[in-house]
This record gives sequence, C-alpha cells and structure tokens, in this order.
Amino acid sequence: MIDKSIKRHKLKSLIDKKETIKSFIVSLIDSAIIDAVLLPIKVPSGDSFAWILIKDKKILNNAEVIAPIMPINVANALKQYTRKGKGNLKIAVLLRPCEVRATIELIKLNQINSENVILMSYDCIGAIPMKDYIADPVNGDSTFNNALNQIEWNSSKMKEVCHICEDFSNTTSDLHFAFDSKEVIALANSKKGEKVLENFNENDNYNLEKWQKEITKISQERAKKKEDSFEISKKMLDGLDAIHATFANCIGCHNCGSVCPICYCRQCYFDSSTSKPNSDIIIGRAESRGGISLPLDKIMYHTGRMAHMSLSCVSCGVCSDACPVNIPVAKLFSYVATQTQKAFEYSSGESLGDTLPMKEYKLDEMGELAKLVKSAETLESENE
Ligand code: SF4
Ligand code: SF4
Repeated sequence: MIDKSIKRHKLKSLIDKKETIKSFIVSLIDSAIIDAVLLPIKVPSGDSFAWILIKDKKILNNAEVIAPIMPINVANALKQYTRKGKGNLKIAVLLRPCEVRATIELIKLNQINSENVILMSYDCIGAIPMKDYIADPVNGDSTFNNALNQIEWNSSKMKEVCHICEDFSNTTSDLHFAFDSKEVIALANSKKGEKVLENFNENDNYNLEKWQKEITKISQERAKKKEDSFEISKKMLDGLDAIHATFANCIGCHNCGSVCPICYCRQCYFDSSTSKPNSDIIIGRAESRGGISLPLDKIMYHTGRMAHMSLSCVSCGVCSDACPVNIPVAKLFSYVATQTQKAFEYSSGESLGDTLPMKEYKLDEMGELAKLVKSAETLESENE
C-alpha cells in the first residue's frame, strides 16, 4: 500500500505519457537538478534502441523515453558507467521495475555506485519480444504506444515473462511514475526523490486510491498466472533427463549469460582456459561416457548459472530475447529463482536494506546443514 505521507506530484499532462515524462525530465535539467539523463534513442536502422547519456536538450527531443523492447537490461549499462566508482555528473535514469530491481542487486554486489544517480521507474505494461519488434518495428511502435497510453496491462503482444510479472509497479526507485488513467503522478520513494519533488510543490495531495486498487488487482491476477506457468517450468526441469531435453537445442552461445545483469562474476569460468580442455581430454571423457556432446558443458553452464544468479534473478526476460533457438530461459530461471528466494526468505531487488543471503551466515542454517550431514551419515552406515 502507498503510504499517505509519500510525497507526490501530478505531472503536467501532454499529448501522451512519454511526452509528459520527457517534459518533466527537461525541467530537471533546466533547473540543474540533474546534469544528464540515460534514455533510449532509436538506432538508424529503426529496429532497435541504444541507451544514450544525454545532456543536450536537442538530443533529448529525439529520445524515446520508454522503449517498446528491452535489447538490454539498463542495469547493465549503469554497471558499465559506474564500474570504477561514482560518476561526476548527477544523472537520472528511467528504468522498468525489473531493471530497478537488478540495479539494487548490483548495488549490493558493489557493481553499481548509485551515489550520483537518481533511479526513476514507471508502471510497466511489459515489453515486446525482440524478434517480433525486429520483424515489424512500425507495427511494434504503434502496438506498444497504444497499449501504453491506454494502460493495457494484459496485452498479448508482450513478452511471456511480462504476463506473469507481479512487481510491475512502484518499486525501490527514487522516483516512480504512477499511471492513473491519463494522469502521470511522480512518487518519491527516497530522500533523493523527495529532494527532486521539493522543486514542484503543487498537486501534492493527489488521491492514489483508485490506482492502488487497480495495481493490486492486476498483481493478484498475475500471481495466479505465474503459478500455472511455473507448473510447466517445473516439469521442464524435473530431473536430469528433463533438463537434457529442455536444453537439447542450446547451441552454447552464452548469449543468455552475456545479457543477464545478474551474471555478475568478473571472470567467468566458461571464458577461462580451464573450461577449454584439449582434444585428448575430450576423447577421454567421450570414452568413459560412451559419447560426448559438443559444444561442451551445456548443462553445466545452465545449472552453474542457476546456482549463481537464482538469488538475484529479477525475471526481466532479456535472456529469452537473446536466445537464438527460442529456449524459454527466462521462464525457467524465474521459476528456479522464485524457489531459491523463497527458501532464503529473500526477494531480489526489493530493498537495499536486505542483505544478500550469500553475504551472511545464519547460525540456524548451519544447524540445518549439520542435520543433513548427520542423516546422510546415518543412511550411509545403514546401507553398509
Ligand atoms: S536470468 Fe534472465 S530473467 Fe533472470 S535476471 Fe538474468 S536475464 Fe533477467
Ligand atoms: S542463449 Fe539460448 S542457445 Fe545460447 S547458451 Fe543460452 S540457452 Fe543456449
């Protein structure tokens, strides 16, 4: 529920939601609240978007503000920008809620420095699958813009993971743009956000009750759909044979890991020389197993990734978009992540205050481990 005391500001409505937000961002630059903003601009070929750090208002005019697709998770761009520490510019970045959650995880992992960054988010209606957009960008733009302006929460044109996303609205950003029918309301979620809104004093009593009810209703509907979808994912990962069948078409390109914001290791095992055995070793493995599948280690790659990022996966879906052979990696990883996060009573990207489970030990967890070891030992001695 939205706290009554949360500072809010109704933006001046323009022709559509994107223009309304753009004009607000321009006013932040004009009043030197920020020096620059990270936003998507269409690439010259017209079938994708690049995220550009913009200071110049003339360039800002060409910005799309909200892209219909997610060629990247923007948390990855922020990671690159602040990899060596905070930038000197005060910047704002507009993100989908799943991108905010990825950013929060990366801040906890010391891979993003958000000191000079204002995180802004918005009510997300989803994103169009990359393949569909590339096939017909003109249609993609009009489909997305219509859905956005009419706030179509369940458009069948959006990515599969978007249909089961429950956390598509207010999130751990500094400022969130709530879409209440035709109005856009900026909500301050942090001291940084409040500081921004101090510059806009009018309309700060906007009643968000209707919007809140709508968001809760959609979120509950999505929770049900998610359960159904996870039943399928569960079957696809139920045992080694099922896992082999699920990833049988994988060509080992590792696109899914390259685009994933949460694939955070600075040195990936699969890029190291250890992961590239010589032909004698490969032949040895083939002889002992009766055959070997090439490219090597496909299953190890996916299970390794699941073990690494399932505490932090934010179900953004960019991995599925990047897969050339249409493996529904995002739905599978989202399923595994949900189970892992449940087990650790953790929710990725929900709060900067929650410690990542891998960063802390709890004594009672050690007790659980001791019990498991004990029962394994008992089982072993009974079998002897
Ligand atoms: S595994 Fe896929 S869905 Fe999860 S955070 Fe990475 S790219 Fe997003
Ligand atoms: S992107 Fe698809 S084909 Fe490439 S490694 Fe990932 S699952 Fe396999």
